[in-house]
Amino acid sequence: MADLEIEQRDKSALRAGYSKSVRRFELCSIAAYAAAMIWLAWRIAPRALHNPWLALCAFMVGFVAADFISGFVHWTADTWGTPEWPIIGNALIRPFREHHVDEKEITRHDFVETNGNNCFISLAPTVLAALLPRSGAALFFAAAMTFALTLAVFGTNQFHKWAHMDAPPPLVSWLQRAGLILPPEHHAVHHRAPYAKYYCITVGWLNEALFRLRFFQVLERIISAATGLIPREDDIGKRAALEVALQPLPPLPELPRLSIDLPPELE
Ligand SMILES: [Zn+2]
Ligand SMILES: [Zn+2]
Repeated sequence: MADLEIEQRDKSALRAGYSKSVRRFELCSIAAYAAAMIWLAWRIAPRALHNPWLALCAFMVGFVAADFISGFVHWTADTWGTPEWPIIGNALIRPFREHHVDEKEITRHDFVETNGNNCFISLAPTVLAALLPRSGAALFFAAAMTFALTLAVFGTNQFHKWAHMDAPPPLVSWLQRAGLILPPEHHAVHHRAPYAKYYCITVGWLNEALFRLRFFQVLERIISAATGLIPREDDIGKRAALEVALQPLPPLPELPRLSIDLPPELE
């Protein structure tokens, strides 16, 4: 795919889309999400202190689920839709287009621009989890999992920004090297045109598995067959997008052969 000719959107037009109304939307999202998280923390804290192992399991499931959701949302925004769509186009899709045109732009975003969108996405699940009744282990597990999930989703764009910084803070570098937040060299795989793999940006643990299982590739083919849309046409231009869409799927990974020494009576 080295000779793929991609056509991207204009960088300054994308930057100009960061309007005052988008900024207000981000500020409101951050304030509402912070309030919802304090409410949810207050709801789950008594049981988490009483049953810390169950809480820990729920937090770990929530963290891995956040990695998957980061990949799913990133894939959706990279692959479908345009910044011209009303409301969500400018606020939610434009930043993804801009990020492929200028991957360092994210490092110049302040806290509000970096984290506003993910606060908006996290708001509804956080409120729903806080509204769950406080009886029963399963409901507590769901609420605690959602707490960790939305906290990790909130952190995702910050982790993503750090993965693009030339000199992140020392503690951040350590977390990246330990593989506990998105490592820069791992995320660099996504930034090679046509930007069609390694979408998970919380920590990236699921990227290789999803790619080998052809998860997003198969989803794209199903959606294209059903709607006639060309995946990532808006991101890299129709010609390159068609070329990528018509590529054969990579073969599924071979399963290791089972080798068992049978006892003589069974041979
Ligand atoms: Zn992308
Ligand atoms: Zn990136």
